[in-house]
Amino acid sequence: MSQQQAKRPGEVAVEHPQTSDASLQYIGRIHTPWEQREDCPRQGDPDGPECQIEIFPPWHQALAGLEPQRSLEVLYWLHQSRRDLVLQCPKGRQQPVGTFALRSPVRPNPIGSSLVTLVGIDGRMLRVRGLDCLDGTPLLDLKPARAVFMTDLRS
Ligand code: SAM
Repeated sequence: MSQQQAKRPGEVAVEHPQTSDASLQYIGRIHTPWEQREDCPRQGDPDGPECQIEIFPPWHQALAGLEPQRSLEVLYWLHQSRRDLVLQCPKGRQQPVGTFALRSPVRPNPIGSSLVTLVGIDGRMLRVRGLDCLDGTPLLDLKPARAVFMTDLRS
């Protein structure tokens, strides 16, 4: 967790418990053009720049069945987020808002998700559009977009 992010007036932090209930494994790394949080889009744009998702061994075989032009849900760990705010003052809001009413990266478990278009697959690298995270963001999971998955189930 980065404690570099200063609190804004009105924001409230709590003591984040250091114990953990789940053990997550990073299954890859996301490569994007953005080196600083302030350069990232607030949400991914389907017409945004092409980014790469690198899959670590031993998970390459788990890509079988993925097809270009499909929509994928990408889950990632917003590793530079502080995790202790319960009330936040995002830019443009006058009053503090509860963390669970926001899609802010600052949350107890900083999981981000984006719906991306799979542009192509080059071995262990996926080319996608629609991301909003920093270069080097750890990858947690990939799933077919729910709508596409449900359509495939019915056909
Ligand atoms: N699309 C995801 C969601 O809705 O769950 C994330 C949205 S969050 C508002 C996106 C912002 O998080 C970016 O604009 C950037 O400021 C910040 N961010 C991106 N990558 C990050 C990282 N690895 N660690 C911490 N903050 C990050």
